[in-house]
Amino acid sequence: MFLLWFTVTVVLTVIYSTIFHSIFGSPKYQALSRQLSDLKLHFTLANRELDLTMDLINDLKMSDEVRYRPILAMESLPESFRNPGFGGIDRFRDLNGYPSSSIMRTTRTRIEEMKNMLEVQQASFRSITEKEAEWSRMYSYLPLICPVSVKIRLGEGVKYREVHPVLGTSQWHHGQDFSAPYGTEVYATGNGRVIEAGWNNGGFGNYVVIDHGYGYQTTYAHLSGIKVSKGMEVKRGDLIALTGNSGISTGPHLHYQIDLYGRHQNPLHFFNDDLTEDEYFEMISLLTSGRKI
Ligand SMILES: [Zn+2]
Repeated sequence: MFLLWFTVTVVLTVIYSTIFHSIFGSPKYQALSRQLSDLKLHFTLANRELDLTMDLINDLKMSDEVRYRPILAMESLPESFRNPGFGGIDRFRDLNGYPSSSIMRTTRTRIEEMKNMLEVQQASFRSITEKEAEWSRMYSYLPLICPVSVKIRLGEGVKYREVHPVLGTSQWHHGQDFSAPYGTEVYATGNGRVIEAGWNNGGFGNYVVIDHGYGYQTTYAHLSGIKVSKGMEVKRGDLIALTGNSGISTGPHLHYQIDLYGRHQNPLHFFNDDLTEDEYFEMISLLTSGRKI
């Protein structure tokens, strides 16, 4: 009798516990399943952090594309270069076959993408910094200021002159004339090397030519005095000559000419002549004191 009772109890216990476990799972299963949902939660939170990080990366990308590259005349980087993707290669095969494969793969893929984007961004900023250094060097060489302080210009830059006032023939005028009292100081308009300093038989009289590199040359003509000699290096704002009336000229004036690869440029496009005479001399003294402006 006791044996029967015992057997029935054991059998019932086994049946109950099997039913209970099949509905609620074993304690070990419950612990694992809690861990799994914890992990899923952590992955979800980590992905939210990745969203924020991606926003930061995109901010950097925008500054790069919208602010820096256009200023430095650099081409924008194509999206396919910034974020090439992985083109069908399953790099995370090892994450297949798990209950959370999908979120693990998404997370790994995003981290990998961000790593790539940051590497491209870092390289891009490096090239921007190099370009900036090159530009600031180039900027100091370009003829960007007015060669004299005087405001009175004769005519408006490069233009067709019907009849030359002295020669009586019609010819092109290739620069900008400034009416300036005899002996007015003339300054180098950008860094460079003096390639001509002396007499010109073509009508320029005493003249100076500076080679600024990057294809630019400037010519200063009809001078009364020359303060530099051929081969000298000059800086923007250096005194190079005094205005005069030498060569074919009807009165004291400075002929100023800018050529880019031998083609005449309109000097008026190269400088901001809104300065007063005082401001101009302040700029010249800042330039010659070695400060960069
Ligand atoms: Zn002229």
